[in-house]
Amino acid sequence: MLILQFYNIQNPDSILKHALTEFTADVVWILNLTSGKFTYISPSVFQLRGVTAEEAMLETLEDSLTPESIVVVKDAIAKNIKGFIEHPEIPNYYINEVQQFCKNGQIIWIEVSTQYRYSPIGDIEVVGVSRNIEERKKSENALRASEEKFKTMIETSPDGIAITTLDGTIQFVTAKVVSMWGFDSADELIGRNTMEFIHSSYHQKAIFLVTEMFSGNFTGASEYLMVRKDGSFFYAEANANILRDAQNNPVGVLYIERDITERKQAEVAFKENAEELESINRQLEVSISNANEMAAQAVQAEEMVRESEARFRAVFDTANDAIVSADSAGNIMDWNPSAERIFGYSKIEAQGQRIKLILPARHLAGMERILSGREKHVIGKTIEVEGLRKDGSEFPLELSLSEWRVADHKFFAAVIRDITERKRLKEELQQQATLDALTGIFNRRHFQQLALDELKRAKRLKRPLAVVLIDIDYFKHVNDTFGHAAGDQALLAFTKICQKNIREIDMFARFGGDEFALLLPEASDEQAYIVVERIRLAVQSQPVELDGKFVSLTISSGFANLSVEQEAFDKLLSQADQALYRAKETGRNKVVCYAKT
Ligand code: GH3
Ligand code: MG
Repeated sequence: MLILQFYNIQNPDSILKHALTEFTADVVWILNLTSGKFTYISPSVFQLRGVTAEEAMLETLEDSLTPESIVVVKDAIAKNIKGFIEHPEIPNYYINEVQQFCKNGQIIWIEVSTQYRYSPIGDIEVVGVSRNIEERKKSENALRASEEKFKTMIETSPDGIAITTLDGTIQFVTAKVVSMWGFDSADELIGRNTMEFIHSSYHQKAIFLVTEMFSGNFTGASEYLMVRKDGSFFYAEANANILRDAQNNPVGVLYIERDITERKQAEVAFKENAEELESINRQLEVSISNANEMAAQAVQAEEMVRESEARFRAVFDTANDAIVSADSAGNIMDWNPSAERIFGYSKIEAQGQRIKLILPARHLAGMERILSGREKHVIGKTIEVEGLRKDGSEFPLELSLSEWRVADHKFFAAVIRDITERKRLKEELQQQATLDALTGIFNRRHFQQLALDELKRAKRLKRPLAVVLIDIDYFKHVNDTFGHAAGDQALLAFTKICQKNIREIDMFARFGGDEFALLLPEASDEQAYIVVERIRLAVQSQPVELDGKFVSLTISSGFANLSVEQEAFDKLLSQADQALYRAKETGRNKVVCYAKT
């Protein structure tokens, strides 16, 4: 602006006056190129460099300029003067940046604006304005340093960084992008459009996301299938951001891109493993078959990859079983919603933690052996161990383990099922199979099983073994008089009396209804008789309280013994039954021994 004023005003004095009043901080000077001397320097040179105008007028260029700046100035003069002499009619003005000495020896940056002209006496002179630009230089340098830092930062970033214009033309790419896309230099990419490197099947997605972004919607990281220079494909995850100028107008797009091929492979491998495990997991099977239907709809190749990933995700997310993956160091990687439910830890809490988070201490050594590959036989198998919940409680679980590799790294996936309920049911079933529901003593089936073993032992050792049948007398009356529930009470009371009167090694069972059996190992006829007779007397002498009334029960019993002949158990049982029949027949409330002869 100042230069233009110079240019318009022909009278140097008026120029000077003008400049001095308007730009007191600037130094205006006139250098006569013919004599090589300053003919004028404004007093503000004192503010600029600490020298008075008089002192400055005596200086040569060498006195006031740094050696580098002398070169700059001499070059400029040589060039400009030539132009001026050839075409003095063409308006000219030039700007240079030079470094000048201050009186105190300090060096400062100065911007020099010059215009060449003929003096009134026909010499060539330069009218110049010098301005201190130290501050601007400082901030320029700071900016350059920060730019350098930024550049280094983005160049060393493990992610590739690219900047494009609004229409996708590449303006800048880091070395990482160049190598990721299979090129040799950034120059090969600059000026080309990003779309050229995105697989056509992902163009729509890319356009959609960029449009979304410019509509102000947050788009987050997205996956793309990318095409390298050699035509090969790779998966990348990209984050995009709008670049804006100082007025907040969008001027370009910044992309941060990462090659996720390895992660994709791991996911696919993990998915394949999960599928392998499906056979042991009915729940999973259902999810997979649903997902298979979904997959069948996928038409294009890329679509299928995506579907398959989604399918795996669906299995992973909806499986009733916990699916947990870990690296070989035992760090938890994946953690599905069922794992959250079963163990009580959220995904955020579990990821990155050691697998010991969910295992009781006693299983850690074993798990360590598995992860380190020293215990291979469990891979692909289902094992039962205990798990540890967040609340510290343990529970039984069934764990199916698989492993997969990506490059040199080994990973493990476990499908974990909480089997608390199944275990409880199993125990219940087992009880049902062996115990009588009302009295809790053995049932007939189990009694017979145990008796067979006992019989074998007795036969081998030629030891006596008594089989006793007991039936309550007129029990129907109890039921009829007091009701079925009271009858149950009576059966329980009877059971207790019997239990009190038998030894540890004796076995007691309810055969059904009011019929009970005893197996008395090592008991001869006499000893058996004593035991059963003791029970009979105890029952008779201990009335049972039913509905506030005391009811005396009596029993009839028959027994047989192995000591005489080596009969089969069924035979013994039927002999005892015959003796019982005789007891009933001959008046009840008595104990009868089966007479072998
Ligand atoms: P007996 O002297 O000939 O043995 O006559 P009884 O009335 O005891 O007749 P029996 O042994 O043939 O019948 C047993 C009865 O026990 C039949 C049924 O009413 C009753 N009973 C069977 N099972 C149960 C049970 O679980 N609870 C109750 N309260 N009663 C049962
Ligand atoms: Mg009876």
